[in-house]
Amino acid sequence: MAKRDYYDVLGVAKNADAAELKTAYRKLAMKYHPDRNPDAKDAEEKFKEAKEAYEILSDDDKRAAYDRHGHAGVDPNMAGGRGGGDPFGNASFQDIFGDVFGDIFGTGRGGGGGGRAARGADLRYNLELSLEEAVRGTKVELRVPSWQRCDTCTGSGAKKGSSPITCNTCGGAGQVRMSQGFFSIQQSCPQCHGRGTVIKDPCGSCHGQGRIQKERTLSVKVPAGVDNGDRIRLSGEGEAGVAGAAPGDLYVHIHVKEHPIFQREENNLFCEVPVSFGTAALGGEVEVPTLDGRVMLKVPAETQTGKLFRLRGKGVVPMRGGSPGDLMCRVVIETPVKLNSKQKALLEEFEKALNEEPNHNPRASSWFDGVKAFFDDLRK
Ligand SMILES: [Zn+2]
Ligand SMILES: [Zn+2]
Repeated sequence: MAKRDYYDVLGVAKNADAAELKTAYRKLAMKYHPDRNPDAKDAEEKFKEAKEAYEILSDDDKRAAYDRHGHAGVDPNMAGGRGGGDPFGNASFQDIFGDVFGDIFGTGRGGGGGGRAARGADLRYNLELSLEEAVRGTKVELRVPSWQRCDTCTGSGAKKGSSPITCNTCGGAGQVRMSQGFFSIQQSCPQCHGRGTVIKDPCGSCHGQGRIQKERTLSVKVPAGVDNGDRIRLSGEGEAGVAGAAPGDLYVHIHVKEHPIFQREENNLFCEVPVSFGTAALGGEVEVPTLDGRVMLKVPAETQTGKLFRLRGKGVVPMRGGSPGDLMCRVVIETPVKLNSKQKALLEEFEKALNEEPNHNPRASSWFDGVKAFFDDLRK
């Protein structure tokens, strides 16, 4: 099969700069990486093709040669011995991409590649709030089970009075280079797991881990105006890292419970207001709830069901400032129930009076017009 043009493979212009190349390659690599497409043979081919194109174009000399002579100008086989065996070996996604994707995956996190000891894991806490709490803000105490730095050894993992010694497998670098098929890979040192040091005499409290598991209580201020799906980041409140490495972050994810009266959309609140048939026809006032208490809503005469009334500023004050949302009250006209004989008689009389002259039922009139037009169309 003829080789495709490297620029076409990455989908970039001939004059693409380094950042564009990287972005294009990153997209393709994410899409076609074998870890994500375990059964797709052509995904692996596409992945290799993109990798090769990126390797050539990201190298100024090779790119110049390719621009002058095309595929004849560069021989990717020279770039590290293609073919033979599994090109990925046992290397994980992160090991291979550490250099290109360090900024997305956070090199060194979770014990992947990278020379530093593992930063502590980020934690997620799902916090359920009532609508009122979310709108007004609140303070909550979270009980967070997590790893924390061991106080006995102050996180070093070594027994009191001793200290970790330099690892002689990696000479303290924490990383070793390994050749695997067509890659040369920087990997965490298998002896010290990236720390660069080993512990001869482990601390008794944490068994050399430098951290122990505890439950902490955290006091968190939830700002007024938070909404479903918002998250609050508490920097450094995640798990402690191994052997004194930096802790992760704690993310508090907000879930707002359903409210019996109000629904929230952005900063507006919606509610339904039942209005009696008489009040809707003659006009009057009804009491409506707001988050700050009750207010009277003026209902004009001839109000129809479904009409929305806007109470300005009675919605939610946005978390990041700005003017508050509105409260939208949707009128629902209530059909009276459990009528006694007197009420029924009055209604019958009332109905009769209505039918003596037209135009008392605006919706019915337009509905009948529509039905008539529909049947007229059918007859054509
Ligand atoms: Zn310890
Ligand atoms: Zn080592």
